[in-house]
Amino acid sequence: MPGILYVVATPIGNLGDISDRAREVLSVVDIIAAENTRHARKLLSKIDFSGKLLAYHDFSDKRQQRMLLDELLGGKTVALISDAGTPLISDPGFKLVRLARDQGISVLPIPGPSALTASLSVSGIATDRFVFEGFLPSRDNARRQRLDMLKEETRTLVFYEAPHRIVASVATMLECFGAERSLFIARELTKKFEEHFLGTLEEGLRWLQQSSLRQRGEIVIVLSGASESERQRRAHEAAFSLLERLQDEMPLSKAIGLVVDITGVRKNSIYNRAQLLNSTRQSDE
Ligand code: SAM
Repeated sequence: MPGILYVVATPIGNLGDISDRAREVLSVVDIIAAENTRHARKLLSKIDFSGKLLAYHDFSDKRQQRMLLDELLGGKTVALISDAGTPLISDPGFKLVRLARDQGISVLPIPGPSALTASLSVSGIATDRFVFEGFLPSRDNARRQRLDMLKEETRTLVFYEAPHRIVASVATMLECFGAERSLFIARELTKKFEEHFLGTLEEGLRWLQQSSLRQRGEIVIVLSGASESERQRRAHEAAFSLLERLQDEMPLSKAIGLVVDITGVRKNSIYNRAQLLNSTRQSDE
């Protein structure tokens, strides 16, 4: 019989958050595959663990993955842990879980803390539908592009962010999404200097800039999604700028028809805008 791969969540700060079941599994498995063995030893020092401790990363060489799979196929039990929280949530483990499943090995969760659910649960921002975006790209251009792609998203957005990039990221969010969206920042969840902020994006940027201490530690950003009025305003802006371009190239009625067909914005709004544009032009002449 093949063994079992347990995916074990561990605390995100407060060691008291480890569950009884996680303790039990970690103390009886044959092997613990950890993102970082030095880090894991700290946690395991609180647990009566007598198995083998190995390093595992998704970019671990194939031999390491093969060895873990062979142990599992040979009937051994393996617990996968990351440095903090739930493995595979912006942490290693995906490849191992997939390979194990492909080999018919049971993969069982030992659920527990994650900065994702912990931050959402206290954010005060809608949690019925959300999108987890993990870490944004570190380069400015790529980060802006990713955020631009999320402009129309109506579900709540959750990001992990490195402390040295938090100000730049929130500033870019402000440029992409406007000042009014609700922003929740969770710093150092479950730890001694835990701190939360809830306000608008504009207030959030100011809050961060008020103290360099707020730009330290581990941080999650929760942002409300686009409201219907925000989406409509954006659709109108896009339609109006298209109208301005087309109006110089063709008769007005044709330009209006095309803009309505392409953007789906109501004919009346486009027509009113065209009249406004024309009267401004005439008064300029
Ligand atoms: N697997 C982890 C989980 O389930 O939350 C996340 C690992 S990811 C490499 C680390 C990121 O998670 C940090 O940069 C931060 O964004 C977030 N994070 C982890 N612990 C946190 C904490 N105590 N408070 C706030 N954010 C935290």
